[in-house]
Amino acid sequence: MSTDTIPNPEKDASASAGELIRLDQVTKRFGSNTVLDHLDFSVDAGKHVTLIGPSGSGKTTILRLLMTLLKPDEGTITVDGQQLFPASDKQVREVRKKIGMVFQQFNLFPNMTVLRNITEAPVTVLGMSKDEAVERAKGLLDLVGLADKCDAHPAQLSGGQQQRVAIARALAMRPQVLLLDEVTSALDPELVAGVLDVLRDIARSTDITMLCVTHEMNFARDISDQVLMFDLGRIIESGPPEKIFSDPELDRTREFLSAVL
Ligand code: ADP
Repeated sequence: MSTDTIPNPEKDASASAGELIRLDQVTKRFGSNTVLDHLDFSVDAGKHVTLIGPSGSGKTTILRLLMTLLKPDEGTITVDGQQLFPASDKQVREVRKKIGMVFQQFNLFPNMTVLRNITEAPVTVLGMSKDEAVERAKGLLDLVGLADKCDAHPAQLSGGQQQRVAIARALAMRPQVLLLDEVTSALDPELVAGVLDVLRDIARSTDITMLCVTHEMNFARDISDQVLMFDLGRIIESGPPEKIFSDPELDRTREFLSAVL
């Protein structure tokens, strides 16, 4: 891939030196429901970490906390050395610029072309020149296999193509970390492979950090440096994919994997 299309995270020294994300003793409750229970984990820059576990075990809540869409009840979250909660609005905005997120539903702007969907935020939020934003957007559309769809509107694309535009849109902001929340769950089965192939390609050919919630276990096995197994708001087991998928320590992990594999 040419350097034009590689997300250039413009990492500062602290990011490239190691830890990019850190959660310490993070607890999140909704009413009496404790969704995350004194959770600790960290992600080093450039690593690909996959969160697996049964529905309702708190995986998406972690991504929402990192996006500052939710606040923890206890504990601290640090992104690239900046603690969130408490943080000033300006600090939160700076942190959010470092994080791209792709959701289950693609949430493209329906009234904008594909190209405009991708260039809008770099121009308005990052202050990128329109020419540069367009050039980068075209490179990213090439990366996701949609170079010929610049002028299409989202409704003219399949769900898989829309999701690939959403991935290009997230990368256009040059995030240091990409959060992927069950990005293929809303797709027809025949469209899943194309999206996962694009993500495999990004994982292989860029230095972006990925935190990924997925039920696609083969994909998780392919891209992950580390897999975290969640149950009831806790990480019950973690390790490299070859260990977790082939020789897990816990019966609970084995049960979960045999149900989804
Ligand atoms: P997972 O991603 O592992 O499926 P989630 O993080 O989405 O789990 O949800 C964990 C728990 O938190 C579930 O019991 C869910 O119902 C609850 N939950 C998530 N978001 C909210 C919310 N905004 N209000 C109330 N409960 C919520």
